[in-house]
Amino acid sequence: MHYPIMAKITFLGTGGGRFATITQKRATGGIYIADKALLMHVDPGPGALVKMHEFGIDPMATNVIFVSHAHPDHYTDAEILIEAMTMGGRRHRGMLIGSESIINGIKDFRAISFYHKGLVKEVRAVKPGDKFYINYWYEMEITPSLHSDPTTVGFKLALDNGIISYISDTQYFEGLADFHKEARLMILSVTRPIGMKIPFHLSTEDAVEIVKKVNPELAILTHMGVKFMNVASEQANFVSEETGVNTIAAMDGMRVYMEDKIEIKKD
Ligand SMILES: [Zn+2]
Repeated sequence: MHYPIMAKITFLGTGGGRFATITQKRATGGIYIADKALLMHVDPGPGALVKMHEFGIDPMATNVIFVSHAHPDHYTDAEILIEAMTMGGRRHRGMLIGSESIINGIKDFRAISFYHKGLVKEVRAVKPGDKFYINYWYEMEITPSLHSDPTTVGFKLALDNGIISYISDTQYFEGLADFHKEARLMILSVTRPIGMKIPFHLSTEDAVEIVKKVNPELAILTHMGVKFMNVASEQANFVSEETGVNTIAAMDGMRVYMEDKIEIKKD
């Protein structure tokens, strides 16, 4: 196992939404959070496994897979990554955390097979407000979303060097920011640029409202739709200017290190 000495977050993909995913103009492998006793893959969409190999992350070392909802850009590689996490199904280990749709299935959505759920040591269907520990150490709090998969969730996770907060697909709603208060590092799924709002997703204007209220040390915009990705840095700069919070647009393969300082590596 290669646990880092400080929190390290790798963006295995920064694309999101149907057309960004279909065209793979940006990858859709999700986010990998590594801390001392935690190797957690968040929202492994199409190509996650391939991107892990490209960016030098061992899929067999993962001990937690978190899937926010049952849309393909968030979950499609989860089953093969469960096979990796459990050494091809030979070792009953790891934790799978997912929305109700991912774990148990809901009317329109059904994601992880019974077989794959059976491989994992701990399977947890989560809903907003749930609080629990991962690996006896990391407190996770599940946060709400308002999305076309009605069971979509985000989280707040307490790492040794501060809280990391993740907003998955959602539309803006009053009170959303309150669930992410105290985050030191915030990751927001912002699909649309300024003036191009669509239902059930965040746009840059919404990101401004949230980031202003939460006031983290760093905000990272990811899950970009096709219309967002060409103007990604302008969108991030706009959020920085409007909020006074350092905000960046994620890039495929980007790594963020969180210790006393938060450092970004883009090579
Ligand atoms: Zn979605």
